[in-house]
Amino acid sequence: MRFLSIILADNESLFTGDDVSSLISDNFFYFVIGIIIFIVLVVVLAVIAKDQSRCSICGLPFSRLFYIWKIGGANQRLCPKCNRQMRNKVSKAAFKSKVG
Ligand SMILES: [Zn+2]
Repeated sequence: MRFLSIILADNESLFTGDDVSSLISDNFFYFVIGIIIFIVLVVVLAVIAKDQSRCSICGLPFSRLFYIWKIGGANQRLCPKCNRQMRNKVSKAAFKSKVG
């Protein structure tokens, strides 16, 4: 609310004498608060992103590479190892259905 009152105040009262130093320290206070909120937001987003970048089967986090498979009607992200196993499984099933 104090911040709002600074914005809404007219220019004459803003920049006269000793008010300037208190204005700067007030702004610095809100600047620090803004940075803290920003850091918290970044951390929260990083945690969410990290949670989404895990293999749906083994739960290991991806380094960079992942594969998307449609399992049970929903897209699942698989790590390279589980992707290889899924590929083997699909290949085996296809082989069995064709060759027997
Ligand atoms: Zn996996």
